[in-house]
Amino acid sequence: MRIAMIGSGYVGLVSGACFADFGHDVICVDKDPAKIEALQAGRIPIFEPGLDALVGDNVRQGRLSFTTELAPAVAGADAVFIAVGTPSRRGDGFADLSFVYAAAREIAGAITGYTVVVTKSTVPVGTGDEVEHIIRETAPEAEVAVVSNPEFLREGAAIDDFKRPDRIVIGTEDARAAAVMNEVYRPLYLNAAPILVTGRRTAELTKYAANAFLATKITFINEIADLCEQVGANVQEVARGIGLDNRIGKKFLHAGPGYGGSCFPKDTLALVKTAQDHGAPIRIVETVVAVNDQRKRAMARKVIAACGGSVRGKTVALLGLTFKPNTDDMRDAPSLSIVAGLRDAGAIVRAYDPEGMEQARPLLEGITYAEDAYHCAEGADALVIVTEWNAFRALDFARLRAAMTEAVLVDLRNVYSRNTVEKHGFRYSSIGIA
Ligand code: NAD
Repeated sequence: MRIAMIGSGYVGLVSGACFADFGHDVICVDKDPAKIEALQAGRIPIFEPGLDALVGDNVRQGRLSFTTELAPAVAGADAVFIAVGTPSRRGDGFADLSFVYAAAREIAGAITGYTVVVTKSTVPVGTGDEVEHIIRETAPEAEVAVVSNPEFLREGAAIDDFKRPDRIVIGTEDARAAAVMNEVYRPLYLNAAPILVTGRRTAELTKYAANAFLATKITFINEIADLCEQVGANVQEVARGIGLDNRIGKKFLHAGPGYGGSCFPKDTLALVKTAQDHGAPIRIVETVVAVNDQRKRAMARKVIAACGGSVRGKTVALLGLTFKPNTDDMRDAPSLSIVAGLRDAGAIVRAYDPEGMEQARPLLEGITYAEDAYHCAEGADALVIVTEWNAFRALDFARLRAAMTEAVLVDLRNVYSRNTVEKHGFRYSSIGIA
């Protein structure tokens, strides 16, 4: 199969490299010349474990290449994937589909022969209809089918998720397009990945329903954590107690500072708007969005409380800035609200993140960066674990204690046990553990 991937970001680059690894002939397109230049020079513009080796191998085998030129990549492709961004639209929170529609228009002008255009970006229900309309309007003669194939990979484990997915969802009513999609994913039959062929709208909605459900699960345990703190209970034990029930499941029951990242915040909001527009409001998700927004800022208040009620003039050291470990993605990370809350309260903020500092710099003004956890803690009045990178899971507390002015640890990811930390003379606060 010849595949063109339009958009070479977290999803496009991983998907393109994995498809090439399946044996397909893949060309990844991006309109950002710096990104393509880097890829052509063998540099990976994002941090994703294993991606450099996978890209390198497939480039060497001649199955994967990169270009800024959409038209030649699309001409002759059997399948053209749209994997461009769909951020929240400024002002109203709807998904901004301008990148998707612009890509559709460009693709329409370049198609030759029968082509399946596949929307991999997360797009509101009905977007496939509009993409099809744009293509038919721009190129009435084109032989084309528009399919939805939402992506469920997680940053930080993206390659494994792509190659061993829990399921693949293909939204099309067109048998010929379904056959092409089956061919694209055929190598995964070996892993017995369930392939669900659904209507296009159903596939589009499935992606939002999945993300909204996961965001709800996180928000649920976060509120249970707050209650645990008030009533003298332990949220980790509650999570285990409910998670062992197979109907509930153990995953996504880790209490923390609120969900962030490039997907859950924008996708929950977009689903809320879509549902309201269609007169079928999903109030549980509306509440999840509101609760989560407040929670991120509340984490700054938690740090302030741990510091005795004021951080004015105090140095607060943050460990971890990205929304989760093993990624450099800073989009909607809880750290953004936490830093803002601390700075508003007069704190001097210093931070260290193993991979995220470059992306953090333009987003976080007025903070300084350290080269590791111990430099970050130097002279600090409080240390806050914001993201649970492995590098923060076995900290040397004696060394930290000696480096810090005040021994306060706020563990927003419940990485440590109170005993371990208090033994070293720290005051310790965590999430949902009274
Ligand atoms: P991203 O911002 O990392 O990448 C998008 C890329 O598309 C950018 O490099 C941009 O330059 C490029 N682009 C935009 N318009 C273009 C055009 N007309 N032609 C060529 N390139 C163009 O975004 P991402 O994180 O990869 O997300 C892409 C989509 O996948 C979004 O809809 C997102 O919701 C969805 N998604 C993301 C994840 C994730 O973990 N990041 C997981 C599942 C689904």
